[in-house]
Amino acid sequence: MKNITKLISVLAALAIALICCGCGAKSMTAKEGKLIMATNAEFPPYEYKEGDKIVGIDAEVAKLIADKLGLELEIADVDFDSIIPGVQSGKYDMGMAGMTVTDERKEKVNFSDSYATGVQVVIVREDSEIKSIDDLEGKKIGAQQGTTGYIYASDTPENGGYGEENVTGYQNGALAVEALKGGKVDCVIIDNEPAKAYVAANEGLKILDTEYVTEDYAICFAKKNTELQEKVNDALKELIEDGSVKKVVDKYIKAD
Ligand code: GLN
Repeated sequence: MKNITKLISVLAALAIALICCGCGAKSMTAKEGKLIMATNAEFPPYEYKEGDKIVGIDAEVAKLIADKLGLELEIADVDFDSIIPGVQSGKYDMGMAGMTVTDERKEKVNFSDSYATGVQVVIVREDSEIKSIDDLEGKKIGAQQGTTGYIYASDTPENGGYGEENVTGYQNGALAVEALKGGKVDCVIIDNEPAKAYVAANEGLKILDTEYVTEDYAICFAKKNTELQEKVNDALKELIEDGSVKKVVDKYIKAD
């Protein structure tokens, strides 16, 4: 008798735990009325801090999306390489961080339509002996951990990279640029718009002319969260079509 009571209470506890897990993973967003976006706020002009506030293209477009969905936008500022794991686990509803759509990432998360593009470029010190990307062999390269710039640079020379041993991964773009200024690396490979912003904000740096392929930026979601993905994507589509996204981009990126 005692055993049966115990079994029932264990089963009941298990059932409650399962129900809680279920709703936690599925409808946390709707329940709390929040849209939690993970980003890495060291990537101007897409996301950066102005005082305590995270501003930039992604932050503003995400706010417009949240408004359309009647949700309150909350931004979590984390390392770039924590974004996808956090989205996969359901800790964040979506990742928006100037994130390039790649086949490897598509195996882990789903992407929205693309809302912007980027190109990988190389920042060097103004007096650098590196004149073009042909001079990068054997040089010390800095990049942001987990980014496409890091992935390309650390690939083998046969695959067009420079070898992992020559690449240092930094937690974010700002730290990579600091390392370049301090002479710890000879160049930094990073997306073109943040590169421009960092060169404008720091003396003695310049960007090499490069012709890397154009990458598409998109918002990522957990594979199972197709419901939110569709809602966000519909909102994003409307915002692209009615010119709202362009307006935000133009505010932060002035034509050269
Ligand atoms: N576009 C690059 C990538 O997706 C860099 C993004 C970033 O550093 N925020 O890997």
